[in-house]
Amino acid sequence: MSKQRVGLYPGTFDPITNGHIDIIKRGLRLVDKLVIGVATNPSKNPMFTLEERVAMVDRETRPLAESSGVTFEVVQFDELLMHFAERVGASIIIRGLRAVADFEYEFQMTGMNYQINPSIETVFLMADPKYQTIASRLVKEVARYGGRIEAFVPDHVAKAVVARVAEQPIRGDFSGE
Ligand code: ADP
Repeated sequence: MSKQRVGLYPGTFDPITNGHIDIIKRGLRLVDKLVIGVATNPSKNPMFTLEERVAMVDRETRPLAESSGVTFEVVQFDELLMHFAERVGASIIIRGLRAVADFEYEFQMTGMNYQINPSIETVFLMADPKYQTIASRLVKEVARYGGRIEAFVPDHVAKAVVARVAEQPIRGDFSGE
């Protein structure tokens, strides 16, 4: 019996963007089972609750996983990434790499994670160039100032962001509120 290859794609997904979805499509080609780990990440002061983020990720990506025949799960987590990876039986952690800006952080994190558990390999994937510059943080910022975000996120997500922005007054990410 050959061993099932399990991949874990962790992130905050606040909210899921077309960049994340592109990485997930690529990840589905590499593994037998893909777990999307949605991090609590209260320090990032998310726009959407953990439950909302999990539901959005699930809605936008489950059909892709089903049509690819890969076993698929969207799971929330609030623990050390490597402990979570061990718990779900992942042998691969998938991360997306955008511009050089991501590199320093990812480089450090991968190095430390490797020391925690050298049997789990981190794999970096690049999105299609048309999605490479998309970042959840900027999507929220554009929406807060009334810009169109339909090119960056799925329609359902765009509607949710616009609705949330309408409920919340404009406030800077660094206002400390
Ligand atoms: P985190 O809080 O871990 O940065 P994110 O939800 O912002 O979580 O991103 C999850 C992963 O997806 C990270 O590896 C990030 O670099 C990657 N990612 C996000 N947007 C893109 C994109 N447009 N292209 C490629 N990778 C991306």
